[in-house]
This record gives sequence, C-alpha cells and structure tokens, in this order.
Amino acid sequence: MHDVIILGAGPAGISAALWCDELGLDTLLLEEREEIGGQLHSIHGPIRNYPGLEAANGGEFLERFSERVSDADFDVWTSVEIEKVNVKSKQVFLRSGETIQSIFLVIATGVRRRSLGIPGEDEFKGRGIIESPTRDRELFAGKDVCIVGGGDAAAENALLLTEVCPTVTLVHRNKKLKARREFVEQLQTQHCITVFPESAVTRIIGKDQVEAVEILRKDAIKPFQMAVGGVAIRIGVEPNTGLVRDQLKLDERGYLLVNSDLETSVDNVFAIGDVSSRLSPTISTASGNGATVAKVIASRVAP
Ligand SMILES: Cc1cc2nc3c(=O)[nH]c(=O)nc-3n(C[C@H](O)[C@H](O)[C@H](O)COP(=O)(O)OP(=O)(O)OC[C@H]3O[C@@H](n4cnc5c(N)ncnc54)[C@H](O)[C@@H]3O)c2cc1C
Repeated sequence: MHDVIILGAGPAGISAALWCDELGLDTLLLEEREEIGGQLHSIHGPIRNYPGLEAANGGEFLERFSERVSDADFDVWTSVEIEKVNVKSKQVFLRSGETIQSIFLVIATGVRRRSLGIPGEDEFKGRGIIESPTRDRELFAGKDVCIVGGGDAAAENALLLTEVCPTVTLVHRNKKLKARREFVEQLQTQHCITVFPESAVTRIIGKDQVEAVEILRKDAIKPFQMAVGGVAIRIGVEPNTGLVRDQLKLDERGYLLVNSDLETSVDNVFAIGDVSSRLSPTISTASGNGATVAKVIASRVAP
C-alpha cells in the first residue's frame, strides 16, 4: 500500500512525485513508456516560456527538469502495462498480474496525437508516415512532404522539414493557421512551403511506401492528388483517459473534470497536467498542478 500512485511520468507526474517525496509521502510513479518525460520527447525546438529554465529542446529541458528524480526517494516504474484501474478502491491492476494500491491516485496521463481516420493512415505507419521530423530527418531528406494540421505542432514540423525537404505542403481545415505568431511568421519566409487553407487530406496513397496524398479543397467537387514521399499528421491531441473514462466525470471534449483542489468526481482521485488542462496545456501548468496536488494530499494525511 502506497500513499500515492501517480499514473504518467510527463512534467505533471514528475513534478507531483518530486513534491510528494519532499512532503514525506510514500509515492510510486508509473509510466508506460521506456523513459519518463512524456511530450518533452516530442519538442524539437527551443523552450523559452518556462520561468527560470530555458532549453534548446525538450530533451535538454527534461534533463534539467528531472535532475532530482534519481536522488529522490520515490519509486519510478517505466514500461509498465496497466490493465485496469479501480478509482474507488485506488487499485491498479498490471498486465503482469500484480495489483498495487494506494490511498490517493493521481492521473497525469497527458494527451496523445489525434488521428485522421482516413484510408492509408494506419497502413503506411513506418512506411512514409512521419513520426518525428528530427528522428526521421534522414529518411525524408530530399523528398517532398505534406503536413496535415494548422497548429503549433504542424507549423514546427513544417519548419523543421524545410531544412531537408525540397517542398513542404501544409494542409489545414481553417481559413487561418492557429499556430503561434512566431511560427506563422517563420512559415511566411520559407519559399518551399505551400499552405492549403480550408482543405483536407482525404487519402494517403502508395504501394510499399507513401507516394501521394489526395487533397480536397473547400468548394471543390473532386479531390486532387499530389505526389509526396512523406506525410505528417498533426491535427491536435486527445486526452489519455482510456483507463478511467467510464469511472470519472469528463468535460464535453473528454478531458477529466477537476475542482480547485484538482480532485476529480471521485474522492482522493486527482487529475493534473494536460489530461485535465484543455485550455492551458503547458509545462508550467503541469508542473504547478503537480505541486498543488502534493500539497492537497499532504494536508489530508497530516495528523
Ligand atoms: C511539439 C510540442 C511543443 C511544445 N512546446 C511547449 C512549450 O514551448 N512550452 C510549454 O510549456 N509546453 C509546450 N508543449 C506542451 C507540453 O509538452 C505539455 O503541456 C506537457 O508535456 C504536459 O505534461 P503532462 O505530464 O500533463 O503530459 P504528457 O507530457 O503528455 O505526459 C503524460 C505521460 O503519461 C504517460 N501515460 C499515458 N497513458 C498512460 C498509461 N495508461 N499508463 C502509464 N503511463 C501513461 C505518457 O506515456 C506520458 O509519458 C509542447 C508540446 C509539443 C507536442
């Protein structure tokens, strides 16, 4: 029996674990991936908006953000496969057959990329679907590519790919890009980037590898095909609530609902970071939520 089990080791989970440890709570941090850090692994540009800590990319930020994790007293289990969670009894059932339990449960499972649900999207995973513009840079060098989406992630991916790809086509549904101004300004200076607003990619085509995309522009009757060697789908995110969504109250977009103590609809079950912060999905919020939840929990166990 632990005082606190935290599900997810992104910035929110790491911050909560460090704070719980500092406040003397017996804490276990569970992460399904091989490494802690969550979305920080997907940030390839500089981070300049976290007070007091700047970094060239998410990896560098993670190193400094989690410096204290190895000296701290809490346990971190990575590559953990959680089968199910019972929020009322605070039990976590692992695929390995083990069951663990705590007095308080903190859900910090963040968000994942949304998918388009179009033909070719699953079929070409690993065969032309771009997972990471940095990691896959050499794979797509010299190829024309298409990015689907108009937010920060789409813009950042497009900018990174211009360094190695002859042309980059950005296809998005809205009239204007939603990406932050800094990215939009940079996109406008890149001559190899073409933007198709009010458009949708409706199919990814190829034999062994991606060879083309089908694009449908607003007001057009038929889609047209454009030859590309790679496609990145960056159309936003959805919260990782699969383990608890039938047991806790969600908002209309599926994010976990919390009160000012960050407590969900079940007593002593909390949600922190992106999984419950639709309007402020940032490292600062995730980290602040981690501190808040630890303080709230500590106040409930205090004699
Ligand atoms: C390209 C990009 C650029 C960004 N730039 C900035 C920026 O400049 N400044 C800023 O403040 N923010 C930025 N962000 C957002 C920031 O990274 C997130 O707000 C932050 O990571 C949220 O932290 P989190 O811990 O709530 O969630 P996440 O980082 O999503 O971490 C959640 C963790 O939970 C784990 N998990 C999920 N499901 C389970 C499960 N069932 N069992 C166990 N573990 C599970 C995941 O594997 C993950 O490690 C950016 C994000 C991206 C993608």
